[in-house]
Amino acid sequence: MPIQGRCNCGAISITINNDDVFKNNTFCHCLSCRKQSGGAGTIVVPLEDEDIVMKGEPKVWVDDDTTTGFPMGRWYSGGCGWYVTLSLKCGMTESSPSSSPVMIIKMGLFEVLPKPSMGQFVKRRQDWETELSGAEQVDGLFVPEGA
Ligand SMILES: [Zn+2]
Ligand SMILES: [Zn+2]
Repeated sequence: MPIQGRCNCGAISITINNDDVFKNNTFCHCLSCRKQSGGAGTIVVPLEDEDIVMKGEPKVWVDDDTTTGFPMGRWYSGGCGWYVTLSLKCGMTESSPSSSPVMIIKMGLFEVLPKPSMGQFVKRRQDWETELSGAEQVDGLFVPEGA
């Protein structure tokens, strides 16, 4: 079932048509996500371009000081400053390079959030946070099959 979301000012909206992608729905505890969100982390899902329809013209800044060490484009609404997606400028890992850019959607955009199927960078979880029940726990970056 397609889901739609928009940033706070409405300048950017995203529709995801292929709900199969939510199997890779991930709660990320990395420091980059915490700084970007102002929270304890973010829920993210990696997508191919054809899986989403984005309306609006997001702005971008390139973050070259990420937890993974790979530069990322961080795309945000020029109206409200809300971050809508990330894009990897290069492979997700050195051992598993991806030739095509992967979009990573910030799931906070959507009113209903599918439960994350995994947590990543769980070593960076705070002492007071509890493990998400039933979710796979990954110490570092989760790399989906085929990436
Ligand atoms: Zn906005
Ligand atoms: Zn993160």
